[in-house]
Amino acid sequence: MSYSTSLSIDDTWRCKRVNKRWTIEKINDFVEKNSDSKLLSTEYHGFSQKLLFKCACGNNFEKTFTKFKEKNQRTCGEC
Ligand SMILES: [Zn+2]
Repeated sequence: MSYSTSLSIDDTWRCKRVNKRWTIEKINDFVEKNSDSKLLSTEYHGFSQKLLFKCACGNNFEKTFTKFKEKNQRTCGEC
């Protein structure tokens, strides 16, 4: 039995398996519902990417979505 390791097949498989796949729309929704900050970034490329947020105090800050969500870092460094 042979097993294809073609990248495209692997990617498709991975996308279906990870059903919690965040998109910029979903992140925007999450930010609106779970914080006082606003999402300024318009593209999302993965968990390691820093996103730009606007804090309720008016400061802009950059943070990965993982930190924002998992570590509750939902305001700028000064708040
Ligand atoms: Zn702030």
